[in-house]
Amino acid sequence: SFITICGGTGCQGSGCQKVIDALKEEIEKRDMGNRVGLKVTGCQGFCEQGPLMVIRPEGNFYCKVEPEDVEEIFDKTILEGEAVERLEYEDPLSEEKIVDFNEIPFYKHQKRLVFKNNGIIEPTSIGDYFAVDGYTALSDVLYNWSSEEVIEEAIESKLRGRGGGGFPAGKKWKYCRQEEAEPKYLVCNCDEGDPGAYMDRSIMEGNPHLVIEGMAIAAFAVGIEKGVIYIRAEYPMAVDHTKKAIKQAEEYGLLGEDIMGSGFNFNLEVMEGAGAFVAGESTALMHSIEGKRPMPRQTPPRSVKQGLYKKPTVMNNVETFANVPLIMKNGAEWFNNIGTEESKGTKIFSLVGKVNNTGLIEVPMGVTLREIVFDIGGGIPGGNEVKAVQTGGPSGGCIPEDLFDLSVDFEELSEAGSMMGSGGMVVMDENTCMVDVAKFFLDFLQDESCGKCMPCRSGIPQMLKILEKISEGNGTEKDMIQLEKLAETIKKTALCGLGDSAPNPVLSTIEYFEDEYEAHIHDKA
Ligand code: SF4
Repeated sequence: SFITICGGTGCQGSGCQKVIDALKEEIEKRDMGNRVGLKVTGCQGFCEQGPLMVIRPEGNFYCKVEPEDVEEIFDKTILEGEAVERLEYEDPLSEEKIVDFNEIPFYKHQKRLVFKNNGIIEPTSIGDYFAVDGYTALSDVLYNWSSEEVIEEAIESKLRGRGGGGFPAGKKWKYCRQEEAEPKYLVCNCDEGDPGAYMDRSIMEGNPHLVIEGMAIAAFAVGIEKGVIYIRAEYPMAVDHTKKAIKQAEEYGLLGEDIMGSGFNFNLEVMEGAGAFVAGESTALMHSIEGKRPMPRQTPPRSVKQGLYKKPTVMNNVETFANVPLIMKNGAEWFNNIGTEESKGTKIFSLVGKVNNTGLIEVPMGVTLREIVFDIGGGIPGGNEVKAVQTGGPSGGCIPEDLFDLSVDFEELSEAGSMMGSGGMVVMDENTCMVDVAKFFLDFLQDESCGKCMPCRSGIPQMLKILEKISEGNGTEKDMIQLEKLAETIKKTALCGLGDSAPNPVLSTIEYFEDEYEAHIHDKA
């Protein structure tokens, strides 16, 4: 038998380390080291049900496993091939046990491409990554492709940046390649500060070589010899796994000088960020790498012209780079067949809030919010009605239930007053007060504003003040008008993305839930 147990941060929080220790002890006690394999994998996504375990070849999927369960798992499943029923997943809607792992709705309705190997390989084993064809895309590119061909393939794939902006990655690479200044830099943004979002962390924790391979391919395409992966220090496992993976790749000649004898050099290092939300903004992040305070700067000049140390720089986020080896391996046409006209491929979301199945999901672009909340998320706990989904992180917008059939892609989300962001998705039920929601996110953004520009520094606290007045039952119609005007002004005048998207939670809740604001004003709630 072969046991894979999730060792991601979510399952660590649910106590998986004790289960891992118990499994190792049991294997040793029974002297079954040559019959039972054990792998501690990265995040398998269904964090709410952790610690998660899969036993192959039978495919038994066990949730909420405790150290006390281990002996019985050996007696029944490993030795007799029988299931330990109480550890099997029970569907919250049908209340039926689902034995086949692939039939669990949470997984069945997903399309796991970037996450495909997260639940199979050990993140700190380069051998495991080789076993799933790791680094074959890089070697193919280095031996058989020109840099221009790689860029062309990326452009044709229509891969768009997963960090929020949605800018076509291949075009960014092309613009940077055209610049003459040297040296050029490649930066991977793993700052990910949105409350409740942990997509990038889970990729770096669970499959760091995938991102390193993607970065090496991008570096070859643009002609870059130096790269930095910027990871927030609150992600210690991601930092540790990435550093180990870089060291392994160097030992195998997959990073460093003259990679695979191709003549191409690429060196990569990790930098830990101190955890400021605004450092996720690209220009602020570059300031942080330079040792300065992470404050955004005016653009243009764009980073592809003047980025890190004022040199041409390509910055993409973790999920964007993780898609690159898949595209180079399977081709732009394959990628083009997934998703919508303008948004190709899959997107990873962290599905949290008032929904039965919380965790990380990967879905094709174009899936509807209804499919996400009900088919994958399993609906709302306690039989409550769903009210809205907030997408795009703290400065995203709230989308009401009657728009749940819109297609989840860059265009439709922003038309509905929200945004893709990096992939946070918070579900709210009928008991959620939408004025409180707007207050919560503004409070967060007020703390995280860097204070450089006035509209954001003074405008967000002012919006928050008005919201507090309204929610305390002291608001007036005049306050509502002032709130909307303020929101529009901040949107138009703030210097960076944090400020200009900060009004989104206010504007979208006013647009779709004005009755709740009115109720506070007129009922003096
Ligand atoms: Fe700083 Fe906010 Fe201005 Fe951005 S919008 S530069 S976070 S003050």
